[in-house]
Amino acid sequence: EPSATGPIPFAEGPRLPEGFHAAVAPTPVADPGLVRVNDELARELGIDPAALRSPEGLAMLAGNRLPEGAEPRALAYAGHQFGNWVPQLGDGRAILLGEVVDRHGIRRDIQLKGAGPTPFSRGGDGRAPIGPVVREYLGSEFMAALGVPTTRALAAVTTGEPVRRGWAVHPGGIITRVAASHVRVGTFEYFGRQGDVESVRTLADYVIHRHYPEVAEAEEPYPALFSAVIARTADLVAHWMAAGFIHGVMNTDNLALAGETLDYGPFGFLDTYAADTVYSSIDTGGRYAFDQQPVMARWGLTRLAECLLPLLEEESEARVGRARALLDEFLPRFETTWRGLMAQRLGLAEVREGDGELIHDLLQAMADGRADYHLTLRGLADLPDTAGPADAAVVDRFSERDAITAWLARWRERLATQGHPEADRQAAMRVVNPKFVLRNHLAQWAVDAATEEGDFEPMERLLAVLTDPFAEHPGEEELARPPRDEQRVERTFCG
Ligand code: AMP
Ligand code: MG
Ligand code: MG
Repeated sequence: EPSATGPIPFAEGPRLPEGFHAAVAPTPVADPGLVRVNDELARELGIDPAALRSPEGLAMLAGNRLPEGAEPRALAYAGHQFGNWVPQLGDGRAILLGEVVDRHGIRRDIQLKGAGPTPFSRGGDGRAPIGPVVREYLGSEFMAALGVPTTRALAAVTTGEPVRRGWAVHPGGIITRVAASHVRVGTFEYFGRQGDVESVRTLADYVIHRHYPEVAEAEEPYPALFSAVIARTADLVAHWMAAGFIHGVMNTDNLALAGETLDYGPFGFLDTYAADTVYSSIDTGGRYAFDQQPVMARWGLTRLAECLLPLLEEESEARVGRARALLDEFLPRFETTWRGLMAQRLGLAEVREGDGELIHDLLQAMADGRADYHLTLRGLADLPDTAGPADAAVVDRFSERDAITAWLARWRERLATQGHPEADRQAAMRVVNPKFVLRNHLAQWAVDAATEEGDFEPMERLLAVLTDPFAEHPGEEELARPPRDEQRVERTFCG
C-alpha cells in the first residue's frame, strides 16, 4: 500500500536486510532537461505522467530532488565478467528509489541509472552519456513491444553536465529503469562465494516471495526455485534467439532472477542472418555471440547452482548430482520454447515432427544466401499459399536462391497439412514477425543525433514504429529497411 503522497506511490513490503545494499542519494546535476516520459508505463505503475513532466517531476528524474517515500539505495552484487570472478561489483551508477505495486499487482523496482557515484563505483563516475540512455530506452521498449520479458524505460533526461569517456566528452543523461527486481545471479554470488549460506537463504526466500510464490508450497522449495529460474531463463533466451537479439554482456551480474532482459549495453539485433554474429566491442573472443547465448545462460545458471548447493540437499554428497540434474533441464526447455516461437513465426499453429528441421533449414538457407533475418520472416507472412511471382519478394533477397526456393515448397506442403485459410495464416504471422526492428544503424542514428545535436526527433520517430512494430506505418518504409553497406554498424559499445 502507498506510503507517500508524492508523484510515486512507493510500496511498503519485505526488504532485504542490511548488507545487501548501501543507502546513498543521487548526486544533483547542473541543468536537467526532459527528453521523454513513458506515459503508458507511468499509468501502469499508478504514476500520473503529468507529474513526471512537471518541474518537480523532472527534478526527481534527474536526481535533484528525492520523491516523498523514496529509500534510495545502491545494491551489492558480484559476478563473473567474461568468465572471470569479480568479488565486488554492485550498483556503481544506478540508484534504486523504491518499489511500486503496478496495476496488475506486480511489484516493480524504480531506479535511476546514471545518477552519480555510489559506494560501488570503483573509481567510475557514476554517470551515463546520453547515447547509451537513448539506446537502452529504445532497446527495452522495443523488446517489450515484441513481448520479450524485459526491464522498461520510464523516462530519460539530460543532466546538462559533460561525461568523459576516454578522450571524448558527451552530454550526460539519466534513464529511469523499471524492473521486476534487480536481483541477479551476481547477487547470490556476492554472498555464496563468501560462504555466507544464511544470506543466500535469505535471498532465496526473498526471490521466492517476490518472483516465484508458487514454489513456496513445494515439498523442496529451493530445488523448485532453481528449476523455476532455469525454466524462466531458458524461455527468456528462447525469446532473444527468436527475436534475433544479441545481449552482448551475459555476465552473471546481468542475469536477472526474475527472468527479464537486464542491462542494455552493447546489445544489437541481427541484420543478415549469421549464427556467430558478435557486435560488442569488448567481446573480442565471441563469448556472447548470437548462437552462444543458450550455452552462456546455462553457464551463468551453473554459477547460481554453486551458490544454492547447500540449500539443494541435506546430504552434501548428493548436492552436485542434484544441481546437475536440474541444470540438465535448461537446454531441452530452451529448445522447446524456441521451436514453438519459431514455428509461430512460420505460421504453424503447433510444432509437429519435422518442424525443427524445417526451421533449421530456413536458417541455414538464410546463412548461405546472406539473407536478412527479419525481412525474410516478415516476407513469408506476405506470401500466398501457392508458389508464384510474389515469391520473388523473398527469394530475391537470397544470394543463393535454389535452397530457399526448395525450402518454400516444403514450407507450403507443411502449411497445407494445417488447412488454415491463407488470410488467417498471414494475419497470424504478421503479429509475430515485426515489420520494424531496432537495427544497429537505426539506434546509431538516434544516438548520434542526441549526442551531437541534442536532437531527440530520431528517437521519437523510432519509438513511434518500434512500440507498435507489427503495424505498417505508411510513410516510414525507410525505417523498415536493412542498412545499406555504408550504413552498416558492426560494433556496439557499453556506456
Ligand atoms: P555492466 O558491464 O554494465 O554490467 O557494468 C559492470 C559494473 O560496472 C557494474 O558494477 C556497474 O555498476 C559498473 N559501472 C559501469 N559504468 C559505471 C560508471 N560510469 N561509474 C561507476 N560504475 C560503473
Ligand atoms: Mg550490468
Ligand atoms: Mg551495462
